[in-house]
Amino acid sequence: MLLMTPGPTPVPEFVRLAMAGESLHHRTPEFEAIFERARKRLSDFMQMPEVLFLASSGSGAMEAAVTHFCKKRALVINAGKFGERFGQIAAAYGKEPIELRYPWHTPASVEDVADTLAKHPEIDAIFVQVCESSGGLRHPVEAIAAAAKAARPDIFVVADGITAVGVEPLKVAGIDVLITGSQKALMLPPGLAMLGLSADAAAFLEEQSGVGFYFNLATELKNQRKNTTAWTAATTLIIGLDAMLGHIEQMGREVLFSQTLRRHGAALAAVRAIGLDVYPQTPALAMVSLYHPKASQFRKWMKTEAGVNAAGGQEALKTSLLRLNNMGLITPAQMGWSLNALELALDAAGERDYDGTAIACFSRDYYKGSQ
Ligand SMILES: *Cc1c(COP(=O)(O)O)cnc(C)c1O
Repeated sequence: MLLMTPGPTPVPEFVRLAMAGESLHHRTPEFEAIFERARKRLSDFMQMPEVLFLASSGSGAMEAAVTHFCKKRALVINAGKFGERFGQIAAAYGKEPIELRYPWHTPASVEDVADTLAKHPEIDAIFVQVCESSGGLRHPVEAIAAAAKAARPDIFVVADGITAVGVEPLKVAGIDVLITGSQKALMLPPGLAMLGLSADAAAFLEEQSGVGFYFNLATELKNQRKNTTAWTAATTLIIGLDAMLGHIEQMGREVLFSQTLRRHGAALAAVRAIGLDVYPQTPALAMVSLYHPKASQFRKWMKTEAGVNAAGGQEALKTSLLRLNNMGLITPAQMGWSLNALELALDAAGERDYDGTAIACFSRDYYKGSQ
């Protein structure tokens, strides 16, 4: 089965093999050397001066970011399940979140953010997804960060980059905390959360004793700067991460990004060529997100007949969205076959006669450029 969901993504063989060695104890020079290298590689990869690992899924890093970087009141961008989650976490910790809500295909407005900050001087942190995976939507995070910092230089900007880190060369100016997780573009099994910190965010943590116990970022910062973790590290996942980042260093970060961009452009051209609607107004490169009332019927056919596992939507869009992963080291062959399967599914559902347009269009665009 071809796993084409936008997380979890398939784990490449070289990563599985790297993780298949004998178990290492986490408090040993052998593991600490790997930890140190993975930490350095991640910091270079994210272009953030400091990084922290947590043994949890991505939501653990979201929670830790809320508890440490919002002391008074949170501003949350909510255009889907993950934006909603920041609001739920902030509410759970009494940060009285102010939510800016948008339909799941509509990017946040920078003006709305600026207006809200002007009205509410008590807001000290803003939380936003780079890519809101629920609809495959790209928010204008760079412009939001710039506007927030211009209005209030000491505000913390927390960006959930779980489906953006490793997908595109993010401009991190103005972002204080950049979150990612193992099971998306980094193509690792789930269970490792990562936070990139700006120099200001790291300095802020140095001055405090931190919040909570397990997810205490001040404790983690002290330990991780010494190449260890406060609690047992997710050793196997960190070994896998080191292998993945080493691989990306060799191929070149910009090669990964340009392949992702080309695949995305070619895939969107292909789905439009067979008459499908791309759902988000500003599509993120992480995935191909389509709206069709028969989306769940297409998905079912793709899975049972063509061996392609695509994701559906959530809540109101549960049966009408179809999402294909475009993150990581997905090959043109995998994307091409998935689009071909989608076109066949349209035929099986009586929507459009199959004529090979999707794969032809994808191949032409990917290999010969859009014409
Ligand atoms: C997957 C994802 C998360 C994290 O979810 P977990 O299940 O906790 O790993 C958070 N934000 C976005 C945008 C995601 O795509």
